[in-house]
Amino acid sequence: CGIVGYIGPKNAYDVVLKGLQRLEYRGYDSAGIALYNNDKLKICKTKGKVSELLSKCESEKITNGHIGIGHTRWATHGEPNDVNSHPHVSNSGDLVIIHNGIIENYESLKQELTNRGYTFESDTDTEVLINLIEDVKNKENVKLGKAVQVALNQVVGAYAISVFDRNKPNEIVVARLGSPLAIGVGEDEYFIASDASPFIEFTNKSIYLEDGEMAVVRLGRKVKVREIKNDKLV
Ligand code: GLU
Repeated sequence: CGIVGYIGPKNAYDVVLKGLQRLEYRGYDSAGIALYNNDKLKICKTKGKVSELLSKCESEKITNGHIGIGHTRWATHGEPNDVNSHPHVSNSGDLVIIHNGIIENYESLKQELTNRGYTFESDTDTEVLINLIEDVKNKENVKLGKAVQVALNQVVGAYAISVFDRNKPNEIVVARLGSPLAIGVGEDEYFIASDASPFIEFTNKSIYLEDGEMAVVRLGRKVKVREIKNDKLV
């Protein structure tokens, strides 16, 4: 399973699809991509190989964007099918996530969110997490980075995640605990991946997150890494 992300002047579709192919060796059962283009968030995902994802995206004309995140899934919660494939979108349609790992306490979180009116399309633990992030963001009226941090402090489990908000398409928030995550730093562009192989051809500058760290990756600004457990920048 693997994670890829891109923000910058290149076509995120090309970078992310190629990156997913580089991560195929890690094993997976489904693949998907989220792209923001012309004020629209588009998702293309499917059970099966990255080559099948490519055909689907081409036929649905979801092939452009300057911000994008892509995923290969190794199902742990919910069978491998198109709906359970990542990316997953929050109820408002604004926030989108890809996740490798397991949210162990997803059932109790799902129950709480259901009581608060949230609905779920998939059987995944991941869709619970993105709605928890949305709930925190709305309730506490905080920025995405802070909402991710507060939500992760309510989570038991393992994860590498990438999240973005379609209303802020110049920023990706990433975090890791128990699953790898690297950030590639280019000129006016950033790459995200489970390991450096998807971006090694574009930059040799990378930041490897440590377990328990998160980062706000925003165009035009240095990457800010902080501990999930507290607000100190590291
Ligand atoms: N637990 C998540 C799911 O089943 C992520 C699995 C993965 O690591 O790819 O959808």
